[in-house]
Amino acid sequence: MKHIIHNIFYFLRSMKVQVLSILILVGLVPLFLLFYIMTDTYENRLISQKIDELQSYGTVISNQVLASGYFLNQDVPEVDKEAEQVAEVYQGRILLVDQDLKVLKDTYGLEDGKTMISQEVIQCMRGTKLRNINELGDYIQITLSIRETMAFQSAGVIIMTFSTKGLKQVAADVRQRVFVMMVVITMTILLISVLYAQFLTRPLKTVTDSIQDISRGDMDVQLDMKGFSEIRSISDSFNHMIAVIQNQENSRQEFVSNVSHELKTPLASIKVLSDSLLSQRGMPEDLYQEFLVDITEEIERMTKIINDLLSMVKMDRNTAIMNVENVSINDLLEQLLKRLRPIAASRNIELIYESYRPVMADVDEVKLTSAINNLVENAIKYNYDEGWVRITLNADHKFFYITVQDSGVGIPEDVQDNVFERFYRVDKARSRDTGGTGLGLAIARSAVLLHRGSIKLHSKEKEGTTFTVRIPLNYIP
Ligand code: ADP
Repeated sequence: MKHIIHNIFYFLRSMKVQVLSILILVGLVPLFLLFYIMTDTYENRLISQKIDELQSYGTVISNQVLASGYFLNQDVPEVDKEAEQVAEVYQGRILLVDQDLKVLKDTYGLEDGKTMISQEVIQCMRGTKLRNINELGDYIQITLSIRETMAFQSAGVIIMTFSTKGLKQVAADVRQRVFVMMVVITMTILLISVLYAQFLTRPLKTVTDSIQDISRGDMDVQLDMKGFSEIRSISDSFNHMIAVIQNQENSRQEFVSNVSHELKTPLASIKVLSDSLLSQRGMPEDLYQEFLVDITEEIERMTKIINDLLSMVKMDRNTAIMNVENVSINDLLEQLLKRLRPIAASRNIELIYESYRPVMADVDEVKLTSAINNLVENAIKYNYDEGWVRITLNADHKFFYITVQDSGVGIPEDVQDNVFERFYRVDKARSRDTGGTGLGLAIARSAVLLHRGSIKLHSKEKEGTTFTVRIPLNYIP
């Protein structure tokens, strides 16, 4: 039972049903009202028009009767003629009754001389009413008092009876024709409403179908819906969304295959090294030692890749937890550089630090340190021996700026957009030799973006590279 009620509600809430109902309501209700009013008033108008006409003829005859003294002497052919003519034209009957209720003239010739006692006649005669109009089935009876102007008493009464059958027939014919027209219009409105409701809701069905396709894993969906601008905008947004999802899916797959590839290389080296150790019995101990050192190096490399992958996961926009604290960026940079100085010194690279002012800012210390660390490490790695790396810190009222500038090999202009991608390396061999994983800049960028900051690079091949990081002083959650 509950299920049925739910289904009924679902059905009624459907846009198609509601649009259809509104169209039908708006289209048909006024039509039916119009039909009713039109046919009904048409018949009434026809009848009242006829009554008016007859009344004026009645007045004409009354005047003739009075003028000719017909009630005293019925030998007045004009009155008879007029009454008969009118009766004939209107296919009715006219009676003239005198004060004594005696019928002086009946155009049917049936009641001549008889006495006419009816309520209408008596009312008109007594003067309580000047006229009486009665509808008796298909007949209309008009009873008019005949009297001189200003007179209190009637000199007589004229009764006119006419059939309304003809009029009713005309009205019925008209009604029938209008009815047929109504049926045709109703059908047309229904048809148009159904088609229009269908037309309105079809795009929604297309979208629903496409979403279901996507849920089933079919990403090759493209919507091409024409018509209303709103529908077109849905279509465009939908296609954009699909493109974004597809892009994400592609980059996810690419990432997984990159990770596998990166991990496979050291594993393959380890396998080759250990295989050769196993296959050659009685090798000199020095060689053993050398091979084991190589194996350890490969294991370290794998550990570094895995650690970088873990940091990257921690920097993920959707899951990262920011431990924001107000810290001195000057201190943060000084400590960081202290740790890196020995590495720079080993290649005679000069590390210069310039701070223009003390800067306090809301940052996640670990994440920011890791970002800047990667930048400075790169500046040392991709530098010439005896080169220099300059780190500056500055701030305005809203942001602080860190630049990491080096005198190194630089990044070719056409790949400058790619270096932030995961696992992207300009010179694979050099990166590998220096222990790079291709994740450093990706991690740095994610960390900066988590701080709602931006990172830009400016580089010229063989001259050097400058990375500029801009981060708001106050963290925007
Ligand atoms: P890697 O682990 O290889 O250093 P990164 O993501 O840190 O990976 O950097 C990506 C690539 O960008 C590097 O392989 C290198 O070719 C290039 N690169 C990064 N920083 C610099 C720099 N300061 N000077 C020149 N090239 C750089």
